[in-house]
Amino acid sequence: MALIVKKFGGSSVANAQRVMNVANIIAEDYQKGNQVVVVVSAQGDTTDDLIEKALEINPEGPSKREMDMLLSAGEQISIALLAMAIERLGLPVVSLLGWQAGFQTDSKYGIARIKNLDASRIEAELARKNIVVVAGFQGINKYDDITTLGRGGSDTSAVAIAASLKADLCQIYTDVDGVYTADPRKVKTAQKMSEITYDEMLELATLGAQVLNNRSVEMAKKYNVELEVRSSLEPKVPGTIVKEVIKMEKMLIRGVAKDSDTSRISVVGLQDNPGIAFKIFNVLAQKNINVDIILQSIGRDGTKDISFTVAKSQHKEAVSALEELQPALNFKEIACDDDVAKVSIVGTGMETHPGVAAKMFEALYEAGINIKMISTSEIKISVLINAKDADRAVEAVHDAFIR
Ligand code: ADP
Ligand code: ASP
Ligand code: MG
Repeated sequence: MALIVKKFGGSSVANAQRVMNVANIIAEDYQKGNQVVVVVSAQGDTTDDLIEKALEINPEGPSKREMDMLLSAGEQISIALLAMAIERLGLPVVSLLGWQAGFQTDSKYGIARIKNLDASRIEAELARKNIVVVAGFQGINKYDDITTLGRGGSDTSAVAIAASLKADLCQIYTDVDGVYTADPRKVKTAQKMSEITYDEMLELATLGAQVLNNRSVEMAKKYNVELEVRSSLEPKVPGTIVKEVIKMEKMLIRGVAKDSDTSRISVVGLQDNPGIAFKIFNVLAQKNINVDIILQSIGRDGTKDISFTVAKSQHKEAVSALEELQPALNFKEIACDDDVAKVSIVGTGMETHPGVAAKMFEALYEAGINIKMISTSEIKISVLINAKDADRAVEAVHDAFIR
């Protein structure tokens, strides 16, 4: 007998037929004598539709607290429907909202972090032989308010439960049958990987491969939870295992990812003095704005420019924070570019192989794609390019490395 955590994403429960399909997958494990905890996301595009409804009421953006109250409703619908489908198969089941399942979070509405998971209710339900169906993506804060964990956060809910219960398996079911070297919906030649390390998966997820939420990978690494990404539509097909150490493969890079949720901000005509970069990034840090690629120009005639990228959602906030600095720093202007995307390659293989960057840039050059910014770490290289070139860039770079 094993304890299995299974997570099903929005497309896996998009309609009644898919919900029944998921119920059957769960039933098969349960009937073999396993304990099963299931985490589900909102059906199909429900979360996007709810956001749209909120913006109809207040286009300026409603308060984050009320937004979480609204968005958590999507998962409430899914757990009830899935529990009904399991009941229909004659199996004992109970559905639980995030707070009922013991998810306590901090108070950062919209992007809350799990502070503690009190799994006693889940354990009690398992002891009663129930299949436990938990609403992903949500928890409760110290004010007893509903919080959500950020887009794609149900993956993190599943990993947290698997870690807390020391589950034997944590399976993430989605609409593709594993992790590929690029988004298989966009790149026809993408190859499925049988295994990938936490570090590589974390980079891919952070750099735009939404097949797993990056926080979930971070948590899986921290608590050593092995993940298995697989398809709910082809449940018999073996998926991709995400774990610490994998068989060495001769691949220079493991994947190409695209992130369109980025924009570039340039502060032009800054004094070329010590402390300027500190002042700029300090004010952004104080506002909790995450900065990604940073580029500083060479100082000329006593002035310099600093450019950096932020998530599109934080663009406005970043610009207004910088405007407050204008009187003190006396820079010339702030220039913004929203029409950009980041394309990245990831792989631990590049650490020991020179020439990986050159190969990536050659592929982009041959495709006639201009690079606006570059950033590197030991296991990734990212370039910022025009948004319209992004899909072509992914394809060109993928073809250069993976065949
Ligand atoms: P879910 O609703 O199940 O959480 P998501 O839409 O969040 O599913 O994630 C699955 C999607 O991730 C796939 O449909 C695929 O288009 C996309 N994707 C992006 N990059 C990759 C990749 N490298 N491997 C697999 N899927 C990827
Ligand atoms: N329903 C949420 C979202 O769309 C959470 C998730 O799917 O994991 O972001
Ligand atoms: Mg997802």
